[in-house]
Amino acid sequence: MRTAVILGLTGSIGTTALRGVSNFKDTVKVVGASVHSNVDKAIKLCLEHNIANLCITSNAPAPSVPDSIKIYRNLEEMLCTLQATVVLNGIAGSAGLAASVSAVKSGSELALANKETVVLGGKLFLQYAAKNKVKVIPVDSEHSALDELISNCGRENVSKLVITASGGPFRNTELEKLWDISPETAANHPTWKMGPKISIDSSTLANKGLEVIEAHYLFGFEPEKIEVVIHPQSVVHSMVRTTSGQVYAQLSPPDMVFPIMRALTGSHFERPAGKELDFTNLDLNFRKPDYNRFPFVADAFECIRKGGSYPIAYNAADEAAVALFMQGKIKYPQIHTAVNRVLNLDWSAKPCSLEEIPLIEKRAYNAVLSGESC
Ligand code: NDP
Ligand code: MG
Repeated sequence: MRTAVILGLTGSIGTTALRGVSNFKDTVKVVGASVHSNVDKAIKLCLEHNIANLCITSNAPAPSVPDSIKIYRNLEEMLCTLQATVVLNGIAGSAGLAASVSAVKSGSELALANKETVVLGGKLFLQYAAKNKVKVIPVDSEHSALDELISNCGRENVSKLVITASGGPFRNTELEKLWDISPETAANHPTWKMGPKISIDSSTLANKGLEVIEAHYLFGFEPEKIEVVIHPQSVVHSMVRTTSGQVYAQLSPPDMVFPIMRALTGSHFERPAGKELDFTNLDLNFRKPDYNRFPFVADAFECIRKGGSYPIAYNAADEAAVALFMQGKIKYPQIHTAVNRVLNLDWSAKPCSLEEIPLIEKRAYNAVLSGESC
């Protein structure tokens, strides 16, 4: 029996993990979870799923809870006490990095949905995990697919990574109409059900940019060896080109339960993790992205090439700009304008330690808020 802790229990990843585990009660037991502010919902989920330990990461007042649940206020303390087989990080945004560092300290395997951990932490984080002999299992669907494909094909035989992107809800919308898009419309993704931030990022393709950076660090491929392909159905989760000129793909319905359960079960499946793929009327399309329409993807490649703290600035500026858009303070096309302006500043200095990263993020965040320009 593997034991698991779910960080971000109340979110889209957290609740999908609970759905997945309910089908694998003989393989995985959830022993702990974390929540930030949605404490009542988390307690309800803990009671429904017999989760005995809950960490509240915000300073929300202490709730009254039944004796069956132990409340922690310090994540590292809970993770080190529980020593679960695997910690699933489903926390949204840059707060996920500190949680991943705590998971590494506990020695548990790290099932990583929180892509910000890799985008912000980069080599520093992956070296830290490797030094502590902690296995990092990608959960982002594209990276889970790539992980599977690379290990099946053999790293030495893979010449290129091909990351698929749905293209989001506005892939065919006239550019002038983008000025009228509301946060609610932008957060309504055509194929995936996800939290608001990642849904908006999927519509601008900033999410694909983050995933390109994530793939670069996780698998060690240079930008020239990473392609992005628009595939609206989100059934092919990614592909690899091999040195022989062939392409291998991983397919499953667009449901995060597959990559989540791959990580939580340690790839031991006695039954399918979710509804199997139905080929009745299944049309799959692919096309190359237009980087004029999707400048975020081109920016991400540029950030990898420039190195330094550019990937950190990309993530932080986008987080700040999306927050402004959600508050109605800027228009949809201005999300990219704000990020682009920040990326024109000098981010060439690399962080020397994981502790330095929040300072760099703060500078990028503030540059968006103050409209700082080069
Ligand atoms: P949601 O917004 O649905 O959920 C976020 C979770 O994180 C909630 O449990 C929330 O708690 C918690 N949280 C929010 N802020 C903080 C904080 N400052 N400190 C600690 N916990 C916090 O997000 P998603 O589930 O959609 O995404 C989670 C991560 O997984 C993101 O990094 C995303 O990019 C990645 N991912 C998500 C996919 C998806 O299908 N959803 C697919 C691939 C990757 P509370 O409810 O209390 O606010
Ligand atoms: Mg993804």
